[in-house]
Amino acid sequence: MTKDNIDSVDSAKNFCTVSGRPLVIGTGTGTKWQWLKKGRPIEERNKPIQELIDQLLLALNNGYYHIDTAEIYTTHPEVAEAVKQSGIKREDLWITSKYNPYRQVTAAEAIKSTLAELQTDYLDLYLIHAPFFEDEASYSIEMAWKEIIEAKKQGKIRYIGVSNFSIPNLERIFKAFEPEFYPVVNQIEFHAYLQNQSAGITDYCKKRNILLEAYAPLTPLFRIQSGEADTEGDPLRKILPALSDKYQKTDSQILLRYALQKGYLPITTSSKVQRIRETLAIYEFELSADDVALIDKQGSTFHFRSFFNSNFD
Ligand code: NDP
Repeated sequence: MTKDNIDSVDSAKNFCTVSGRPLVIGTGTGTKWQWLKKGRPIEERNKPIQELIDQLLLALNNGYYHIDTAEIYTTHPEVAEAVKQSGIKREDLWITSKYNPYRQVTAAEAIKSTLAELQTDYLDLYLIHAPFFEDEASYSIEMAWKEIIEAKKQGKIRYIGVSNFSIPNLERIFKAFEPEFYPVVNQIEFHAYLQNQSAGITDYCKKRNILLEAYAPLTPLFRIQSGEADTEGDPLRKILPALSDKYQKTDSQILLRYALQKGYLPITTSSKVQRIRETLAIYEFELSADDVALIDKQGSTFHFRSFFNSNFD
């Protein structure tokens, strides 16, 4: 994959490069792994999960160079091990991690342990994982952001951002800090059944030049249980077979490409080599504007949120 075949609609095109290559779709290490570790007996929780190391190696060996992790996932050791085994130079990778504000640890302390666990001197991107912590901790978004800025000044973080932030959350940062230290990324849930995680967030981030990252972009394919969609059936199922036929692409490629063309950089995962290759190939085709509008329209007839339900709905 080269810079040349990233077309004009792709959101990360002008964001930054990783060793001369544009930032592309990321491979995640959360959700499933976090719960898998939590479900283990206490004495086994710190043991790295070999299956995740293998999955990361599969992704790295097949062309991924963007890894998404977080303190709360407890998957830093697996990332460190996979990077080591891959033999890929640190500067050829993009590693994102996130501050877990629910723990009684400040952002400065968290950054220190994150770097140690990841066995790296710096993070490419560091996000506040979610803004919903202030009721539980005597620690504010502004306090955390100040420490994150400090770590950036010290060269421990290249880019700073947030996750699951709404417009009012973002405006607090804009009000309290200089433009040089505004967030450059907001990682939020995005798919056809959740086109705005919070009111107006998509347009607002685009206007403010904040790169949107989409987590859970394949939700319509596997998170909707039968009976949850309307009585006519899951609305995207009615159009995906025809789109798949038209573009000669899989359902997941259509949905990931849709996220990209909506201006989001998707974060996704797969344990299957065929799906990993298909995912990276989404840079090689383009949906027509009419088909993007069709997915928008079908998707907006059904609402589904996978994460942070009690905080948003
Ligand atoms: P996706 O919605 O992309 O789901 C990935 C899952 O989809 C995998 O389990 C994969 O299974 C399955 N899949 C892939 N292709 C297909 C297909 N063609 N048909 C059916 N299923 C398919 O993303 P995730 O929910 O995994 O989220 C990605 C990452 O985003 C997380 O790992 C985490 O890093 C981040 N995240 C961030 C959050 C935040 O608050 N900031 C919250 C949630 C996630 P298989 O292995 O079988 O291919």
